[in-house]
Amino acid sequence: MNWAIIHYGELALKGKNRPAFEKQLRRNIRRALGGLTAEIERSHGRFLLRWEGDTPWSEVRSRLEVVFGTAYFAPARVVDLDLQQLKRAVAELAGERSFSSFRIRTRRAEKRFLLTSQETDRDLGAWVQTMTPARVDLTHPEVTFYVEVLPGRAVLYAEKIPGPGGLPVGASGRVVSLVSGGIDSPVAAWLLMKRGCRAVILHFHSYPFTSLASQEKVLELTQLLNAYQFSSRLYLVPFADAQREILVSAPEPYRVILYRRLMLRMAQAIAHRERAKALVTGDNLGQVASQTLINLATSEAAVSLPVLRPLIGMDKQEIVALAQRLGTYEVSIRPHDDCCQLFMPRHPATRASPAEIDSAEGTLDMEALVRRGLNQATILRFDASGSHELENPWREEARLPAEPSVVPSEEQAS
Ligand code: ATP
Ligand code: MG
Repeated sequence: MNWAIIHYGELALKGKNRPAFEKQLRRNIRRALGGLTAEIERSHGRFLLRWEGDTPWSEVRSRLEVVFGTAYFAPARVVDLDLQQLKRAVAELAGERSFSSFRIRTRRAEKRFLLTSQETDRDLGAWVQTMTPARVDLTHPEVTFYVEVLPGRAVLYAEKIPGPGGLPVGASGRVVSLVSGGIDSPVAAWLLMKRGCRAVILHFHSYPFTSLASQEKVLELTQLLNAYQFSSRLYLVPFADAQREILVSAPEPYRVILYRRLMLRMAQAIAHRERAKALVTGDNLGQVASQTLINLATSEAAVSLPVLRPLIGMDKQEIVALAQRLGTYEVSIRPHDDCCQLFMPRHPATRASPAEIDSAEGTLDMEALVRRGLNQATILRFDASGSHELENPWREEARLPAEPSVVPSEEQAS
């Protein structure tokens, strides 16, 4: 029989939220395991996972490693509450590894077991010493044999694998995450997913004025992010027409902020459709001209939803390290022409006040630009089996002729 024990972060589990948290976590573990035939039982604030067939632990492990909300997990042995069975199990665990020092660490969730934790530690420790020359070391052992006494059975394991922490995706609601194809924004989306949000991915592109590269990159980035939330939606919104209008009617220094304000407005409209409660960007204070405090404030004044910027206090190296860890870095550093560089002013304003922006926007019909962008959006759904296009709910509403799809075909993408 194949077993694993999964512990979740107890600290986050106070009070009324606990059952919902556990339910969501269990559902996510199930989705992470895909087609594997498995049972997940809850017992005293942990899960016991049992799976059938010959799927190796390495495979199960890599699937569990992407489930937010898990503190640590381990391949385990599960036996009856019987000292002989405990001894047999700990002997098996000991036989699978070589070590020169060890300890036994027993925890009792079930107090009716006839031995106390200390007695169990001592008995099993003495038993292991009859089999190996290894010495007992209570402070820095090479191996710890964990014994958890639960109602009716005990769980034994020797290797704790850290989970990704955080909260189960879906436990904190939805956000719309603006993802550019650069290094930062996929990390920002991932950090909100780590806090239990389901992230709807939104990308603006200037195709056909730029190549398909940014869209291809965002398709790959969405696939990578999708591993953590099991199904995702990606909105690809054409931005070039709007950029051209801003280009001709707004003063050059304000262009970048106007692009940002328009992006956030479109993101907010999508958030309303998706019942998302916040927008997420990869902004980082002071990296570029558009990211001064005053410009961040002027940008987000265009919308009423909160704009979350989880990278705001991070150094570039910290962001890069996270991107490498989640596998997006290699995709992000591939060159693409950024939609905002396309019509980039030579000297972007670093201090654009709301009043200046209002007058710069005065001649533009922002509502119409939002409608037109959404009307031309391509919406894709990702899950374990790949991606497919969804219907655009705005297409009819706006009553404008639809543009041909800009999603790269398989030929173009390869
Ligand atoms: P990134 O590495 O994510 O591109 P950045 O440090 O290069 O970020 P900017 O390019 O100024 O910063 O963009 C700031 C944020 O605005 C991005 O992190 C992203 O959330 C959003 N954004 C910018 N361009 C786009 C785009 N084409 N599509 C979607 N979101 C975008
Ligand atoms: Mg960028």
